[in-house]
Amino acid sequence: MSLWWTLVDRPTFFPGSLDRRWDVVIVGAGFSGLWSAHHLLNADPSLTIAIVEASGIGSGASGRNGGWMSALYPRSNEALAQHSSPSQIAQLHLQLRNSIDAIGEFVKKENFDCGFSKGGSLVIARHESQLARISRDCDEDTHLLTANETKARINMTGAIGATFTPNCARINPAELVIGLAQSLARRGVSIFEDTPALICPDKSVEVGGKKVDTKIVIRATEAYRQRTREMIPIYSLMVATQPLPQDVFDEIGIAKNETFAEANHLVTYGQRTPDNRLAIGGRGAPYTWGSKRNLSSERHKKIHEHLRTMSTSWFPIVKKFEFTHAWGGAVGITRDWSPFVRFNGSYAELGGYAGDGVTLSYLAALTLTELITDSESERTRLPFVQWQSPKWEIEPLRWLGVNSAIALSGLADWEEQNRSRPSIVAKGLARMMGT
Ligand SMILES: Cc1cc2nc3c(=O)[nH]c(=O)nc-3n(C[C@H](O)[C@H](O)[C@H](O)COP(=O)(O)OP(=O)(O)OC[C@H]3O[C@@H](n4cnc5c(N)ncnc54)[C@H](O)[C@@H]3O)c2cc1C
Repeated sequence: MSLWWTLVDRPTFFPGSLDRRWDVVIVGAGFSGLWSAHHLLNADPSLTIAIVEASGIGSGASGRNGGWMSALYPRSNEALAQHSSPSQIAQLHLQLRNSIDAIGEFVKKENFDCGFSKGGSLVIARHESQLARISRDCDEDTHLLTANETKARINMTGAIGATFTPNCARINPAELVIGLAQSLARRGVSIFEDTPALICPDKSVEVGGKKVDTKIVIRATEAYRQRTREMIPIYSLMVATQPLPQDVFDEIGIAKNETFAEANHLVTYGQRTPDNRLAIGGRGAPYTWGSKRNLSSERHKKIHEHLRTMSTSWFPIVKKFEFTHAWGGAVGITRDWSPFVRFNGSYAELGGYAGDGVTLSYLAALTLTELITDSESERTRLPFVQWQSPKWEIEPLRWLGVNSAIALSGLADWEEQNRSRPSIVAKGLARMMGT
């Protein structure tokens, strides 16, 4: 279980029978499914909506993530420019930034606490090649900090600079899942937990071998879907400390609850939790043959140990304290790292956020609602709308390619640390992945 679920009382939902005619049936009760119901009801409060969830609400990535509500998008602007105009790309980033505030407003209006704190985000350089790379990411919203300015915000060993953007909030994601699900239940949405559904080849839905009667089906299963070549599960793992006393934060900083990461190629991320722990995550667990999801990847001992070592090398004072939690989960990655929102009249799907879905799922679900209700907006022209990524390679090429990419990301970090220049391996890797 993730740290987040150990800090909350998990409610259960008893909506009665599925056996009736629905306007919309949503498969999956993570952020994508829950926000889809939320936006659909905003558009038309009379809709009858059922959410069917194989396990409990937020049992997938939505209840396990690093709690960065960021404006990040998994594809670079260069990759987006191959099929989108500069104004579409600018609109995408604007919509992402606006979505953080819209979620903040929702939380305030519904009057629940999910630790929402918009303290911005720091990406820290600990050597020159990282600094050269992150300097290129600066724009009107992302500023470069000097070593002293960085230290004033976060006292990470070896930091020589950082970028700072105000566009990120820290949350406890399980509390957001609960607040959102409870709001939906109050508005009449029926949430069926422990209800695995089968989406048939004709895009109808079956539960327990019986067809569910609905006008529209939405697949919101992201990395927790059945195995296909459309999206692969890649594992992200996390560790968390016990609650830390104030004098630790007097030394470490992050006084405004800034989220933080080292500027590595192999993703890392961290936050100061609402109950004053450090929760730190990263990638590196191997991809499993055939895109299988498995417990050994989400509980990969070596990666958890690496994350603990990395945390104490960033903040040596933390060595005196215990790491109390370790967990992981899968993120869904398409072949070109592009998210998607698709609707064809009776069937819809959204996902492929590649580990950036906390904010993006809100925007994707709002866009999907506009497609379903046939309303044109600045969102319905965003790059992910009706986007179809190429399929992943068949095995063994997929296994070889993905695990090589994971290994090469680690090598790129080693190269930058030891060669004092931006990694050549990373350049080749970006070209190979088309990101
Ligand atoms: C460790 C980790 C850290 C992360 N950190 C961040 C972060 O800091 N910031 C960020 O933006 N993103 C982060 N992410 C990614 C983010 O959590 C996801 O992109 C997002 O939660 C996806 O939401 P979702 O609703 O689309 O999918 P999920 O939350 O995975 O929900 C899918 C749901 O579908 C259900 N389901 C699947 N199949 C069926 C079926 N047949 N019948 C019924 N139900 C089914 C599953 O049980 C699951 O509950 C992280 C992910 C992980 C794993």
